[in-house]
Amino acid sequence: MILYVQDYIQVGHRLTTLPGKCQQIHGHSMLVKIALEVDVPPGEDLAVNANGAVLDFSDVKKTFRGHINSVYDHHLLLGKNDPLVELNLPGMTLVDGDPTVENIAKWIFNFMSNDFPISYVEVQETATNGVIYP
Ligand SMILES: [Zn+2]
Repeated sequence: MILYVQDYIQVGHRLTTLPGKCQQIHGHSMLVKIALEVDVPPGEDLAVNANGAVLDFSDVKKTFRGHINSVYDHHLLLGKNDPLVELNLPGMTLVDGDPTVENIAKWIFNFMSNDFPISYVEVQETATNGVIYP
């Protein structure tokens, strides 16, 4: 069974490696969904983790929302090698690579996978495009 949690983040960013309009600072209202593959044992009503413990949805939501709110929401994501980092702009969050939607999905997946059996992370960047990782 797949369970999921989703929420919106408002993100500013720019991409230095992609020629064109994405090099300008701009923003997105991104819909982020995390999906967990879980087992619901026969005769049971709730999903369980690999260790057999009940997977508490509120734990997933607390960790997920805490992470995306503190790192991404209303922040300006800049790659640590971006020359604009020197300006120390308000709300900057420095990230390891260009803050592409592909990387954002990967980073959230890696963070959440520390604590939960994440199957995939989906990030919808605009009304017409997004990514699913992996
Ligand atoms: Zn963008």
